[in-house]
Amino acid sequence: MKSTSGTIVFPDIQTWYPNQVAPINIVGPCSAESLDQVLATARLIASDFPNAIFRAGVWKPRTRPGHFEGAGEIALDWLKEVQAQTNLKVVTEVATPAHLNACLKAGIDMVWIGARTTVNPFSVQELAEAFKGVDIPVFVKNPINPDLGLWIGAIERIHNAGVNRIAAIHRGFHAFESSPYRNSPRWELVIDLKSSLPGLPILCDASHISGNPELIAGVAQKAMDLNYQGLMIETHVNPSLALSDAYQQITPKRLKEIVDSLVLRNPDNTDELYLNRLVELRSRVDTIDDSIIQALSQRDRLIREIGQFKKGNNVTILQLQRWEEILQRQLSNGRSSGLSENFIKQLYEFIHAESIRIQHEELNS
Ligand code: PEP
Ligand code: MN
Repeated sequence: MKSTSGTIVFPDIQTWYPNQVAPINIVGPCSAESLDQVLATARLIASDFPNAIFRAGVWKPRTRPGHFEGAGEIALDWLKEVQAQTNLKVVTEVATPAHLNACLKAGIDMVWIGARTTVNPFSVQELAEAFKGVDIPVFVKNPINPDLGLWIGAIERIHNAGVNRIAAIHRGFHAFESSPYRNSPRWELVIDLKSSLPGLPILCDASHISGNPELIAGVAQKAMDLNYQGLMIETHVNPSLALSDAYQQITPKRLKEIVDSLVLRNPDNTDELYLNRLVELRSRVDTIDDSIIQALSQRDRLIREIGQFKKGNNVTILQLQRWEEILQRQLSNGRSSGLSENFIKQLYEFIHAESIRIQHEELNS
């Protein structure tokens, strides 16, 4: 086993089980509610996706008490029925060593660690101890807050316990800003995760990112475009009657439509014409990036000069009217150049914060 500082070698998710086909779809209801609900959903899923992994929460982490907290251990028997009647592999969430032991005793195929557990290193370490000597695939969801270190740490703890078949599940992050998503995707954090743990299989939980059925297809397509290995999508035989996450679950029929409409692209292409053209386009992007940095550096030098000038004249840094002018001017510039308003706004908020920092430095130098 490698140390936490070494490079972890992750087996390709497609070699976990024979006959696995990409993308790896983990589908099924948010919660296991009854034998009938679980079986009815699983049968429909199995007829469209015989290689899918069937999910259902047995113990549900609810933010406040008084909501459906899962059926508990009896639901493991229902998942056993799914295995027996449909041949689907089954997966559920574990948050404690007791959950894991109950799953192992029942013969559940795989487990996932939920966002509210990944966030807590004590809980993850307790689980990791319980994984010692256990050869079961483990999916690690991102923590609810956008802290990449916690996500990587949880994966390392599970790996250090001797688990090899590990994949990450991206389910989005809690955000304070209003957004169309239930959990902000922050795709860039997943790209950072990929660079930190090369070879780690990553799946996208499009349901918990979206929070409503309309956004699921777009999120799933984006995950495919970013080369994710698969999807988790909450699927219920009758979503409006679901006891948890009713508003985001979809029917097996809709699931089929969404999966069928995904455009799957190749992770790479070795054709020489393609590669040459790509190199050419990328080198033009590099040249533009170089000039962006040049321009920013010239801008910073001017800002320093303004800082010194204000200091000499005993004037404060922030002049709101000037900031408004800059922003409006560049928003309008951006609009006429076809750039997204949101992008320009965020970009200029960064640039402006840096200007304030530089002037602060100059004023107090
Ligand atoms: C779930 O998958 O139903 C769930 C509770 O997910 P998360 O841990 O991502 O909130
Ligand atoms: Mn759910």
